Amino acid sequence: IAKGAGKNHYHLFDTAQDDAVKVQRESIEAVRYALKNDQFVLYYQPKVNMQTGRVTGVEALIRWQKPGRGLLSPIDFLPIIENNAISIELGEWVINTALNQISLWQKMALNLPLNISVNIAAVQLQQPDFTKKLAALLNAHDDVDPHHLQLEVLETSALDDVQHVSEIMHQCMALGVNFSLDDFGTGYSSLTYLRRLPASLIKIDQSFVRDMLHDPDDLAIVEGIIALAKSFKRDVIAEGVETIEHGTLLLRLGCDLAQGYGIAKPMPAANFPLWVKNWQPAEAWRTLRLKVNN
Ligand code: C2E
Ligand code: MG
Ligand code: MG
Ligand code: MG
Repeated sequence: IAKGAGKNHYHLFDTAQDDAVKVQRESIEAVRYALKNDQFVLYYQPKVNMQTGRVTGVEALIRWQKPGRGLLSPIDFLPIIENNAISIELGEWVINTALNQISLWQKMALNLPLNISVNIAAVQLQQPDFTKKLAALLNAHDDVDPHHLQLEVLETSALDDVQHVSEIMHQCMALGVNFSLDDFGTGYSSLTYLRRLPASLIKIDQSFVRDMLHDPDDLAIVEGIIALAKSFKRDVIAEGVETIEHGTLLLRLGCDLAQGYGIAKPMPAANFPLWVKNWQPAEAWRTLRLKVNN
């Protein structure tokens, strides 16, 4: 019986593994198909300067408009394709689409803030020809000032070689592009990255921001990251700013920029011009801004 059960067990295990491989292969095919058939779209979430209340730019966030399935969130498809070449292609599509968008907004001449940040996985950055491809994309958009493009490096996995990543970042910066460190504080070696990587902006992870009003530990982390960013002469942005309480506290703590549902949810590109036109910081924030600035 024991032997039988063992066999059975192995059998079940193999089947489960086969299924997982099959599901992954199908997902990759589906993404490839979706890319060919224009099913991906970028949503844009505004970033606001806390001192002035001004919109400084947007973060591009990918969505999958899957027929019959509605709008799929990146966490539903990016992790599955993470180690496949298709994720590199998708990453290029994102940068290209963001550059198209800047170009379009520029042509509309509505005096919109044109800075766009796009998320980029460290593995994508470490592709041997990344800088060359980025240069080609920028060349193809010669009406766009490369300084408008920021790459948000995701601390999702430990970087194998920080020195190498730093070199790539410097090469990209020579093209005019700048960097931020996304989800700062949640990664494997945030402090090493802060010290060694030439990112001009630090993004405080939303998990700390969300709970800082109630959890003294999270508040201490937020304060610590802001202080750290200042001593390293980097700007700092808080993500996940959901309420006016978050906003006023962050302003008091000296946070430079803010992003979150309390300001705006990510929106289709077409909604952005009107949103900017109507944007007004909340009364409490305005009042505090006046106090902080005087
Ligand atoms: P992220 O870069 O940290 O982006 C912030 C995420 O938090 C976004 O989720 C955004 O919609 C959400 N968010 C913004 N403000 C708030 C808030 O106030 N409250 C809450 N609860 N959430 C807020 P989204 O769009 O689902 O993206 C999830 C993650 O997927 C991103 O996290 C990023 O790591 C990744 N991602 C998105 N687009 C791309 C892309 O084009 N390429 C790559 N490589 N990764 C992407
Ligand atoms: Mg991001
Ligand atoms: Mg983030
Ligand atoms: Mg995140």
